[in-house]
Amino acid sequence: MLIGGIEAGGTKFVCAVGEKSGEIIAKTSFPTEEPGQTFDHVKDFFQDYDLEAIGIASFGPVDLDKSSKTYGTILNTPKMKWKNYDVLSRLKADFHIPVYIDTDVNAAALAEYQFGAGKDVNSCMYITVGTGIGAGFVHNDKTYIGKSHPEMGHILLRQHEDDDFAGVCPYHGNCLEGLASGPAIEKRYGKKGVELADVKNVWEIEADYLAQAIMNYTLVLSPERVILGGGVMKQQQLYPLIRKRFSELLNDYVSVRDLDAYITAPDLADEQGVKGAMELGKMKG
Ligand code: ADP
Ligand code: ZN
Repeated sequence: MLIGGIEAGGTKFVCAVGEKSGEIIAKTSFPTEEPGQTFDHVKDFFQDYDLEAIGIASFGPVDLDKSSKTYGTILNTPKMKWKNYDVLSRLKADFHIPVYIDTDVNAAALAEYQFGAGKDVNSCMYITVGTGIGAGFVHNDKTYIGKSHPEMGHILLRQHEDDDFAGVCPYHGNCLEGLASGPAIEKRYGKKGVELADVKNVWEIEADYLAQAIMNYTLVLSPERVILGGGVMKQQQLYPLIRKRFSELLNDYVSVRDLDAYITAPDLADEQGVKGAMELGKMKG
């Protein structure tokens, strides 16, 4: 029997079928359209396989409060056709097998924890720094969901002394996502991050915000590893800058033995989302 995994992103869906070992035997991806059409494609792809369960790693926010009437429904999103769309009911109606839903970042954390940069520890975070900023947390084989799910990309930080940018978050202005996401970099400097690769100050400011966030997460969650991925982290120079600033900010208040191992890059290339979705399916299957 096989497990299905769906990485449901705002711009792209990735679907995979795999063995319980995590090995992928078939995979496809397609652009995210209206929800009805998009899930028709999902149905077409999976119907050739005898699946035991499906896991879905969803963009959000999504209602993950099991006691809620709208459990498994997409909440506030600028994609109007997706707002209030009941992802979980649609999948259950199509496949009649257990479906397990979690956030995209929790699934990515779970995949890295099982197979990737966190496979030797008992807890890890996965932070994506891309169009948005989000973070997932896994502890003792389980993702952390809380009442619905955390929104760790929207924490408040101290603004860097050389930065008076108002931020791009429509809800909070200068929260972490407002100051340090890809669109924040682009709006602040009028150029995309990739075109600013050689401008040192850009990455020092970026590293300061990410280091502040990681300090806060470290103090609140005490993870064993912090894995940073997403488009902005393609600027490899950020990793040493973040470690240095994190170390200054933390000031040895809690001990982090091996900083290079603690703040690290993902191991699963771009497959952590869909592999994590399959892992979610295994929990139920
Ligand atoms: P998404 O978050 O939409 O899933 P990504 O993780 O690829 O997608 O993030 C996209 C963001 O990352 C964009 O804002 C883009 O400008 C930025 N980005 C992509 N590649 C780079 C790069 N090499 N250097 C800096 N920023 C990048
Ligand atoms: Zn915000």
